[in-house]
Amino acid sequence: MKLATKIFVGLISGVILGLILSAAGATAIADNIIQPFGDLFIRLIKMLIVPLVFATLVVGASSVSDVSKLSRIGGKTVGYYLCTTAIAITIGVILANIFAPGVGLSISTDLTYQAKETPGIVDTILNIVPTNPIQALADGNMLQIIIFSLFIGICMNLVGRKSEPVKNFFDGFAEIMYKVTEIIMSLAPYGVFALIVPVVTSHGPAVLLPLVKVILLMYVGAIIHSLIVYGTATKLIAKMNPVKFFKGVMPATLVGFSTCSSSGTLPVTIRSTQDNLDVSEEVSSFVLPLGATINMDGAALYQGIAALFVAQVYGIDLTVLQQFTVVLTGALASIGSAGVPGAGLIILTMVLQSVGLPLEGIALVAGVDRILDMARTATNVTGDASCAVVVDATEKRREEALA
Ligand code: ASP
Repeated sequence: MKLATKIFVGLISGVILGLILSAAGATAIADNIIQPFGDLFIRLIKMLIVPLVFATLVVGASSVSDVSKLSRIGGKTVGYYLCTTAIAITIGVILANIFAPGVGLSISTDLTYQAKETPGIVDTILNIVPTNPIQALADGNMLQIIIFSLFIGICMNLVGRKSEPVKNFFDGFAEIMYKVTEIIMSLAPYGVFALIVPVVTSHGPAVLLPLVKVILLMYVGAIIHSLIVYGTATKLIAKMNPVKFFKGVMPATLVGFSTCSSSGTLPVTIRSTQDNLDVSEEVSSFVLPLGATINMDGAALYQGIAALFVAQVYGIDLTVLQQFTVVLTGALASIGSAGVPGAGLIILTMVLQSVGLPLEGIALVAGVDRILDMARTATNVTGDASCAVVVDATEKRREEALA
């Protein structure tokens, strides 16, 4: 069986066991016995992120002979991410307008929500440059790690012969990290199984039913966005059969789905794109860590749906201009937030604030956020991979044309 199939079997078996356990009222088994195995899997893949990204990005950057190539790849990547994010949130707004998931709904909630302080734009941009790269590595600050690794890789090239031992070290280290990733990825079917069981047992019909429209809309939106945007981009720009793309990226999509963290899924995304979709190390090691941080199409899509849902529940009509503000704020905030579990909910505070919607609205959806986050993260991860495939194909075509 292929890894993706095994992960899928793990997922389905997890759902089935979760249903059985919750019917039997044995949720404690899920929480106390099965959950720790899921946590173990998350810890294992998280362990890989920093060393894997650091080593592969240094190697990737050092193999780029001219710096203009790196800036070209960077430009394409950021351009692709911006476009797909804008499309995602627009799809969300359109779907929520058509299907009006919050109209006529009255959910009583005694939860209140505290808005979080978010840094301003200037600080966010300045923060990309680490003052202490070791600290950046220790904190797992992805953008800072990217900047530092690019400097090291590029300068390794400029230094030439004297940097050979360091280059060999990083080469070897990257290979070792790939091997460790391969081993940990083989545990993914069990990890996914262990992660999904407690999610199913803790989300019974009483929690899900009142919000079933929002949940369905999120899942349908994620599927529409993925098929249309990624399917078209891989077909038209990368000239790759979309079926091959979705199959190849499946291990990453499923691990993203069950871990709810696109940063955590990064090692799996890197390996899947390289092994199954032939994306070069140079492109995947740059495009994917960047994507895990700045590209969150699923989160953006969700903002469109959730903001309008909250407005509808409170009986507030948003003007076209306000809906446009939702699109803009949602897109920008999703770029500024890292791919960690629940990030989409924090972004929602900014979006609601931008159009003056009550922040308590967050409490309406917070109870099922895990279920929504799964669809968001699967989309985020698939979107990152589609960018890697697209950028890689255009670079390869360019090289062929020049040769
Ligand atoms: N959990 C998502 C991710 O890691 C972010 C979100 O909450 O939407 O990509």
